[in-house]
Amino acid sequence: MATTICGWCGTRTHMALCTEPTMLPFVGQGYVYTATFQCSSEECERLSIGTVWRQTGYSSPKAEIVKDSSLQWEPKSIRSPDFENVPKQIADTASEAHACLSISAHRGAVALARAVVEATAKDHGITKGPLVSKIDEMHKQNLIRDITRELAHEIREGGNEIAHGDLADEPMPAEDAEAIVALMDEILEEVYQGPARMVALQKSRLERERRNAEKKQGS
Ligand SMILES: [Zn+2]
Repeated sequence: MATTICGWCGTRTHMALCTEPTMLPFVGQGYVYTATFQCSSEECERLSIGTVWRQTGYSSPKAEIVKDSSLQWEPKSIRSPDFENVPKQIADTASEAHACLSISAHRGAVALARAVVEATAKDHGITKGPLVSKIDEMHKQNLIRDITRELAHEIREGGNEIAHGDLADEPMPAEDAEAIVALMDEILEEVYQGPARMVALQKSRLERERRNAEKKQGS
């Protein structure tokens, strides 16, 4: 059985072969096999298509396709993480940036990641100038760390401008899109998620102290 992250339920699961692999007509050289598989998760059991391109044909397609690690899956697994403690609109957009990344929609991912950083700045009253100067301003207001600001500049200097630049005009390799989405994640962590965790910690500490004081008074 082939193992992958199911594009329907998002869990890592075994894919059971349902149909005899079909060999597709391939323009050029090589062999393309495709087959239907079923997710083995009891809550899912939905069907996916596994397709593989090979330079040499299988001698036993049914036995070999299930062991092939270069199977491409449809639907692809779409990752859309939740962003706790982030304002809902911003969190939803950040989640969509990851969804774009997981289907290799790199320009879409970058456009949304930029929108998230813009909205985060706006949420803190920073509305003027290009995105990089907004990031500088967030740094000045101690919302983000030195290294995060530096990283934003490096990504920009690498020619993969997070600030502006015509997305439709330039190639957008996966690594660049991943770096920009990772920067977005880091900014959300520093601006919203980290501080929220600290506040929660402080709250539980105060709560514990209050309970201890009550116990002492009671004894
Ligand atoms: Zn599934």
